[in-house]
Amino acid sequence: MLDIIQLLPDSIANQIAAGEVIQRPASAIKELLENSVDAGSTNIKVIIKEAGKSLMQVIDNGCGMSERDARLCFERHATSKIKTADDLFCIRTKGFRGEALASIAAIAQVEMKTRRTEDEIGTQIIIEGAKFMDQQSCATPAGTSFAVKNLFFNVPARRNFLKSNPAETRHILEEFQRVALAHSSIAFSLHHDGNEIFNLSSGNLRQRIMGVFGNNYNERLVPVEEETTIIKLNGYIVKPEFAKKTRGEQYFFVNNRFIRDAYLNHAVNAAFEELLPKDCFAGYFLFIEIDPSRIDINIHPTKTEIKFDDERSIYQIIRATVKRSLGKFSIAPSLDFEQEPAFNISLQKMKEIPNEPVIKINPLYNPFEVSKEQKKNIPSFESPAKKNAGNWEKLYEGLKNNPVESIQQKIKTEENGLSEFSYEINHIQQLQSRFIIAHYNSGFYIIDQQAAHERILFEKNIEALNSQSASSQQDLFPQSFEFSPPDALILHELLPDLLSMGLDIAEFGKNTFVVNGIPTYLDRTTIKPLLEKLVEQYKHYASEFKSDRKEKLALSMARQACLKAGTALSEKEIKQLIRDLFQTSNPFYSYSGKPIVVNIGLDEIEKRFNK
Ligand code: ADP
Ligand code: MG
Repeated sequence: MLDIIQLLPDSIANQIAAGEVIQRPASAIKELLENSVDAGSTNIKVIIKEAGKSLMQVIDNGCGMSERDARLCFERHATSKIKTADDLFCIRTKGFRGEALASIAAIAQVEMKTRRTEDEIGTQIIIEGAKFMDQQSCATPAGTSFAVKNLFFNVPARRNFLKSNPAETRHILEEFQRVALAHSSIAFSLHHDGNEIFNLSSGNLRQRIMGVFGNNYNERLVPVEEETTIIKLNGYIVKPEFAKKTRGEQYFFVNNRFIRDAYLNHAVNAAFEELLPKDCFAGYFLFIEIDPSRIDINIHPTKTEIKFDDERSIYQIIRATVKRSLGKFSIAPSLDFEQEPAFNISLQKMKEIPNEPVIKINPLYNPFEVSKEQKKNIPSFESPAKKNAGNWEKLYEGLKNNPVESIQQKIKTEENGLSEFSYEINHIQQLQSRFIIAHYNSGFYIIDQQAAHERILFEKNIEALNSQSASSQQDLFPQSFEFSPPDALILHELLPDLLSMGLDIAEFGKNTFVVNGIPTYLDRTTIKPLLEKLVEQYKHYASEFKSDRKEKLALSMARQACLKAGTALSEKEIKQLIRDLFQTSNPFYSYSGKPIVVNIGLDEIEKRFNK
């Protein structure tokens, strides 16, 4: 038999290797940015078009390359950053593998212009799918400019695998933010499809965080600083009251390289202890300076983990230092996080919940003032409920054996103004401003008021999104709000749907939005935090499950706007809530499957007493 093994040509080998290094536009941006940082640049510009799919350009004012280096930099294992194996243990640069440019050039059309300060004339190179197309001398500013066009043009399978433009843009912004945060002394800008998303001037870390996340971060940051023999630690933690529900704001940098480390993350969380609100993550921007020989960064190029030789000590230092900062800046552990006053709908608003009944209710009828006369006339529970059950039964098919089945029948009877419900339910009360207890002759129902209102708003929102029908109350004094560029991008995406849900909001200049009208059930003073949380939740769900976009949004909005546990309700409000709840398609379970209504019948009570 003939020999069949052959060496792959470089172009194919590079294309295979590229698959590991460059997975999406954001990976190319990361590599180009890191090269610019390594080149000692003080100003780095990024221009992207169509989420980087058609163009990614990174322009720096760094050291530039000679004509020979310009050609060589596209070869695999071509690097200026290490020379010997020993160098691997004292790496101070971002790159060292010499694979990034070879990989990018293998799967895109690249145009590079570069000039060293000392040279009069620069070099331009065009390379497509690892093939050199052109090389010329050219006039160009000192520094280097890479234009990467049509990523994966020669690997259609990968190109098709890319996510939507907003999703890919978010990945790019994430990489950009990491590099920008790690190097606050370098000026960065980013333009997407002609819009300036970031323009960050050189400054200190606090200014950089504000530049990236918004000026309101100034009041949120608490400084952290410590110097030990093993590491130097500095940076900021986010005050616990501003903690978010997503892991988004957790940044560890080791020698100015972004890393992820579950163990060290735990150290910060341990320092925060019970200061964090439920389901929230500590926010931090922490920089660890360490002798490069004590870490191993010789890891997969796209991974963000590194190994420390003395992880336990570093854990202790981080925990103790963060704890000290929290104490020093007197962030008292007594803060009450359960109460989110900003999200409590005022009682006034609660009364205004628009009610579009599917089932007619006699408005004059007060179920709680049943005269003796009437009582006498009310037939036994079973018979009218069965007679009138028609529609309700259809609605609740499948729930027949549900222990709470009878409540719908009770409410159903209100349809005719004949209130079995009221006859049966003889007392309603609120427990700890969280639950509604509705007593009936042989037991009681417990309704989770927050879950109930969430269900009501969720369905209202879904309906509004589908019919684009929600009305909003125009605000006499429109409010404008500024958002961080990435959040502004998400908000921009959400605008049409928000409008459908009655949030009349429009873009108003860079990263600024103006709210002209809100749904009637919202309080205008809560709009800013509501929008922030909406964006936050949207990010959260986007990563958690790929449910229908409208559902996601309707749910986020409902979660943020719903009446919270801890709100005292009047009897009238309670009744309204129960009525609205039982007009929804599933009053018994929340979207995530948690019970809204629980029935404790006499039999259950007896069982508890071993009767
Ligand atoms: P690595 O960064 O691991 O060395 P790359 O493939 O990313 O590998 O880059 C190869 C080489 O090209 C670098 O070592 C550097 O010498 C040179 N280079 C790349 N980008 C730039 C730039 N923006 N400015 C100056 N030199 C650059
Ligand atoms: Mg590199």
